[in-house]
Amino acid sequence: MRFASEFRDPVLARALLAAVAGKAEAIGATRERPVHIMEICGGHTHSIFRYGLDKLVHEGIEFVHGPGCPVCVLPMARVDECVAIAERPEVIFATFGDAMRVPGHRKSLMQARADGADIRMVYSPLDALELARRNPDREVVFFALGFETTTPSTALAILQAAREGLGNFSVFCNHITVPEPIRALLEDPDMRLDGFIGPGHVSMVIGLRPYDFIARDFGKPLVVAGFEPTDLLQALLMVLTQIAEGRAAIENQYARVVPENGNPVSLAAIAEVYERRPSFEWRGLGEIESSGLRIRPAYAAFDAEAKFGIGYAAARRTVPEIEGCACGQVMTGRLKPTQCPQYGRGCTPESPLGALMVSSEGACAAYWQYAGARTAAA
Ligand code: SF4
Repeated sequence: MRFASEFRDPVLARALLAAVAGKAEAIGATRERPVHIMEICGGHTHSIFRYGLDKLVHEGIEFVHGPGCPVCVLPMARVDECVAIAERPEVIFATFGDAMRVPGHRKSLMQARADGADIRMVYSPLDALELARRNPDREVVFFALGFETTTPSTALAILQAAREGLGNFSVFCNHITVPEPIRALLEDPDMRLDGFIGPGHVSMVIGLRPYDFIARDFGKPLVVAGFEPTDLLQALLMVLTQIAEGRAAIENQYARVVPENGNPVSLAAIAEVYERRPSFEWRGLGEIESSGLRIRPAYAAFDAEAKFGIGYAAARRTVPEIEGCACGQVMTGRLKPTQCPQYGRGCTPESPLGALMVSSEGACAAYWQYAGARTAAA
């Protein structure tokens, strides 16, 4: 296959749907007793709704939307800290556009910019580096967030800044990792998950081996998938096949992109620049051990936490979510977006209460945009 259209071939899609239905029947999945398959990545959530796969698959398959949207899982206190940094008169705060409208407790970055903070939208950390070169009398802070997909590019920007001796560039590091929250979900006795569709872009960096514990310790299958409809249907079929055969393994549907052992150059940059935080707070999941990265002391000159004395103290950071928001429950797959009392009422894309309605990878935005669900559940 060479072109994206080949991954949207209706004949192939129909054949895969029939095979998926056959496996669902074989394992006895029904509307009343569905098999629960979590797609971890927010990009997969959007693909599922964009192509209507949730409606096309057998009625005994329930997609559970996972915590794989990095903007959505950012706790409100970190947004507050971004705003506090951005409001410093000497700072140019550089951020991806996705993060601009995420509500903080006091205000969003968009509101802070309207109030006079110098906040610039960038497409890459290299844009932020360029801002630092052009504004030597200002402090340029790059808001780094994201999973292992974006972690290497931030690391490379820090290494480049070190090479150039750019003293006015720093990074507010909010990079997080995928395997640890999966473990937290699997250890939660209230969660009922039968298998996983694994993230494609993250796995391109880390490979397959970091997921081994899911099959080994919890007996659940995971199949890394691409983002086209036939990718997702094939991955779903592979998960169901494992369940039908009583197996649990880590498999790779996205082999055209994902190497088994990841990308060695990216992994080396990550190892050079970051170390694990003892724990990091996730919206909806709470503190998760070893799930966040911070900048190593060797690169403290480029660490905004060190530069501006922000630190990371759980007691100070924990800020209650907005009353009535079900972001945490949606994030962990316990509720569908339309079951949130605020969905379509207090929370819409024009006036979001939670990040899931803002981010291009958020589950609530996916429902709103593709599922024709523009009102709350009755
Ligand atoms: S509808 Fe809004 S408040 Fe409710 S879960 Fe989604 S983003 Fe959060």
